Amino acid sequence: VVRPATNLDPPFHIGCQEPILNTSSRANAALVMLARNSDVDGAVDSIRSVQEQFNQHFGYPWVFLNDKEWSREFKTRVGKAISDGGGASDITFETIPPGMWGYPNWIDQDEARKSMASMERRKISYAGKESYHHMCRFNSGFFFDHPALLNYKWYWRVEPDIEFTCAVTYDPFVEMERNDKRYGYTIALWELGKTVPSLFRKLADYKMRRRIPTTSLWTAMMDPSYLPWPIRRLIWWVRNRDPYGDLWNMCHFWSNFEIADMEFFRSAEYRDFFRFLDEDGGFYYERWGDAPVHSLAAALLLRPDQVHHFADFGYVHRPFQYCTHAPTDDELRRGELVPDLRGRDVSAWPERELGCNCHCDPRIETVAPACFNR
Ligand code: GDP
Ligand code: MN
Repeated sequence: VVRPATNLDPPFHIGCQEPILNTSSRANAALVMLARNSDVDGAVDSIRSVQEQFNQHFGYPWVFLNDKEWSREFKTRVGKAISDGGGASDITFETIPPGMWGYPNWIDQDEARKSMASMERRKISYAGKESYHHMCRFNSGFFFDHPALLNYKWYWRVEPDIEFTCAVTYDPFVEMERNDKRYGYTIALWELGKTVPSLFRKLADYKMRRRIPTTSLWTAMMDPSYLPWPIRRLIWWVRNRDPYGDLWNMCHFWSNFEIADMEFFRSAEYRDFFRFLDEDGGFYYERWGDAPVHSLAAALLLRPDQVHHFADFGYVHRPFQYCTHAPTDDELRRGELVPDLRGRDVSAWPERELGCNCHCDPRIETVAPACFNR
């Protein structure tokens, strides 16, 4: 019996499919990677994994985005990794227009740098790196407007140094379209409160001001009973409460993998939401990541059934991974999967492997499918 985790939607397919070869119709979609020239080794690893597990059968185009000019080495090695991987894919290497990357004029840069230095002292990861803030802001509010992506509707975000541990033998874009989905993820975890101290409170105000009705996804992200004990104890110290006392439990989709409809991000509602956040300045005075921004936007603006959990996509982005099957008693006994069960009931996991030909590296910490799942 396949028992997908309680409040997550089931996968589009179970097990292996016969990959549809290049003659069948494709969605209007691209594989998109933002990277630096120095990310080339990790980029090549990710590309090899995506080509092998998926794109050799589907031939979707790749678009690479960078705030700097691409190096010859990056283009050559990436081009080779894609063509070695089989299947013909268009490849474009693009730079990001300056208006999409960098401080907007209403940010007080001295103030921003002071905040960054202070966050750095408080050991908030990446907070001292200006370029990381620009990256988070770009991924929150601009990538979908990049000229190279304007003709695409769907995108699959690929980061350097990731790995897919199952074969993806069906077309996830086509299935998203067919099933009326707008946003898909494979891992949801807890945000570190200190990176986004005021984000939730601001969004709760925004939600009230715009009279946005509460969805069950929003409610799930507010329910502290989903929190594991140690975090539940800590969370009360965070200022993320709305005027009614609701508290964001910090659950968010891990956006380093996502498959989504860019028309969602291009909608008037999302643009208004992003402008509100951007004008506040928290991309610089705090360290708001694109993951909580995308997640809270989905919780605010999408119907819960428009959000898809790719329960069949085994995925590694260090330090965590998601495996498509629950650790068996045997694996638990041998400590092979090192599951991070954090007090949760193992029965919430799928009982048997959902994906196709999956493998799990026992040395990487395995997280449960979603933090709002019991
Ligand atoms: P983490 O996943 O939060 O640990 O951060 P990463 O270092 O993986 O960065 C997230 C994504 O943004 C990756 O795709 C990086 O290649 C990309 N990225 C981060 N900083 C920069 C930057 O300054 N320039 C460019 N072009 N890409 C960046
Ligand atoms: Mn990353």
